Amino acid sequence: KASVMDGDKFDNDLSPDALEELEAKTGLEKLQEDRKTLPIYPYREQLLQAVKDYQVLVIVGETGSGKTTQIPQYLHEAGYTKLGKVGCTQPRRVAAMSVAARVSQEMGVKLGHEVGYSIRFEDNTSEKTIIKYMTDGMLLREFLGEPDLASYSVIMVDEAHERTLSTDILFGLDISRFRPDLKLLISSATLDAEKFSDYFDSAPIFKIPGRRYPVEIHYTRAPEADYLDAAIVTVLQIHVTQSPGDILVFFTGQEEIETAEETLKHRTKGLGTKIAELIICPIYANLPTELQAKIFEPTPEGARKVVLATNIAETSLTIDGIKYVIDPGFCKMKSYNPRTGMESLLVTPVSKASAMQRAGRSGRTGPGMCFRLYTAYNYHHDLDDNTVPEIQRTNLASVVLSLKSLGIHDLLNFDFMDPPPSEALLKALELLFALNALNKHGELTKVGRRMAEFPLDPMQAKMIVASDKYKCSDEIISIAAMLSIGNSIFYRPKDKQVHADNARMNFHTGNVGDHMALLKVYNSWRETNFSTQWCYENYIQVRSMKRARDIRDQLEGLLERVEIELSSSPNELDAVKKSITSGFFPHSARLQKNGSYRTVKHPQTVHIHPSSGLAQVLPRWVVYHELVLTTKEYMRQVTELKPDWLVEIAPHYYQLKDVEDRMLSLSHVLMLSLSLSLSLSYLSFHSSKLNFL
Ligand code: ADP
Ligand code: MG
Repeated sequence: KASVMDGDKFDNDLSPDALEELEAKTGLEKLQEDRKTLPIYPYREQLLQAVKDYQVLVIVGETGSGKTTQIPQYLHEAGYTKLGKVGCTQPRRVAAMSVAARVSQEMGVKLGHEVGYSIRFEDNTSEKTIIKYMTDGMLLREFLGEPDLASYSVIMVDEAHERTLSTDILFGLDISRFRPDLKLLISSATLDAEKFSDYFDSAPIFKIPGRRYPVEIHYTRAPEADYLDAAIVTVLQIHVTQSPGDILVFFTGQEEIETAEETLKHRTKGLGTKIAELIICPIYANLPTELQAKIFEPTPEGARKVVLATNIAETSLTIDGIKYVIDPGFCKMKSYNPRTGMESLLVTPVSKASAMQRAGRSGRTGPGMCFRLYTAYNYHHDLDDNTVPEIQRTNLASVVLSLKSLGIHDLLNFDFMDPPPSEALLKALELLFALNALNKHGELTKVGRRMAEFPLDPMQAKMIVASDKYKCSDEIISIAAMLSIGNSIFYRPKDKQVHADNARMNFHTGNVGDHMALLKVYNSWRETNFSTQWCYENYIQVRSMKRARDIRDQLEGLLERVEIELSSSPNELDAVKKSITSGFFPHSARLQKNGSYRTVKHPQTVHIHPSSGLAQVLPRWVVYHELVLTTKEYMRQVTELKPDWLVEIAPHYYQLKDVEDRMLSLSHVLMLSLSLSLSLSYLSFHSSKLNFL
């Protein structure tokens, strides 16, 4: 009793401000205590010694051991940030943002000050920043501008086991070679560290012993026809029958996660009040930051949390308290066909290595359980051992352009950890040549140098560079910014679908095509002085539009850098379309009799995506932004073009015969008859001659 009174008295003695300060401090103290419980903590001194002794160090430790959040702080505490920034790369932007937020909390500083992050089109750092988390793509960009990375003292290439394209290229560039004083740490969550060590001239490997609890693995007896439904049923079964502990489910993307979230909400309503609360937390790249933070909030007593995640939760993010993992066995993966030059994002079975990582997420704080929604036979016989590195299944045009701009010409002898197929390299060179970025000796042209400045795919970069010629750079950068947002501009609430569709079709008046519709959306919003109300009225996502505006501002800055003036031709539809075609001519398709399309260069049957404003119009010739494979191969973001533009804009890529239409065939007949009549008259001339003789 006495102690309670003491407590009351204590509280009353403090002013609200002081109380708040005390709470913040104890919060910080608690975080500092937590840091000391991480598996990496006992190895702090040894690790710092190893960093001191070697320039390149490979670090291996289980997910959750504290590599990403702790090592940069240890380096800071040991004084490395006095010499330069500590940079830490992540393959995914969500991870870069989330980890930076966490570390700024642990250090008690504001995010963006001492601790910041940098992802494409979003730089949340300042002059003060000493610990910088960034995507590996951003480090590659920085390297293009500053190959000695002079402002850094340490670079930590994190999640190296993911073998993303940018990470692999950074390795090949050997970023530490210019500066003997630059420390390079390569950290990985898996044990195949030997490969990294061999590649870096036998760099030492520092192993952080992990704690690991046993994980019980369950398979389904028969293959599941509908893994989404099976996953939901499994969540509910665990929730109703199993002991406390949170659940983590792996899905392939945002759409699946949203569907699962809705279905789960619906089905838990019917469970009655006797069943504990189920807190549903989605996590994927496009989720607003505030909601992303929700997955880390401790689960209240008596409730259970279910995290619906993409691959991001495999190794990049550690969520405490997970006891059950549900693994449907799929992920979305990029694949590339070097013959046709077509890239697609496909739902693909995961590798055994991935499946093991996923299962491991349940045994971090105690014994766990993993429910695989496939059979044991599938696991042993159908899954590949490892995921193929991205460099071997992607379009390399962007990377080749970057390497060329660094002056690296001999790509076939570049020091790739795992070389890409040579057809893919040739295809990239071919495309860059067609885009005029390289000359016939494979050297960077002025156009190519300008293109390389843009953190965009080369076709998009070319579209922007070409807009200079057609005097419409203002329109084109707005379109490019809108295209970068992807398909999260319009929203379509279930109860107002008709209204939403009408609002969307308003922007398509005159069948101007999807690119022009995007431009119209952007310009209309700009005219309302970026009004939020206007977005609501038109079923447009404000958040996406704000992001588009940010991206557009940055593209405008880059225009200046490559000395392209901002010019506008508001009434010249063809100028804008020609700029688009200048970049996207390899993506042209021609209408077939049955309403499908055929791509021009490497004939393949494709369709206009139902969401396109031209889906009912079916123009004879179109240029598209991208292909997406769902039930069919769909072209998304489509604009009509005139076939003679292809020959005019890309004469070295298209010949007349590629674009000849029925109209042209008719003229062919005319030509034929003309030459026929000519030869006839020639003959008659001859005969007359003969007669003469
Ligand atoms: P590793 O990189 O070795 O996988 P991390 O440094 O990411 O490990 O994680 C260490 C600890 O920090 C984990 O317990 C994790 O839950 C916690 N953590 C990481 N990010 C966050 C965050 N954004 N919010 C709360 N906790 C976090
Ligand atoms: Mg990590």
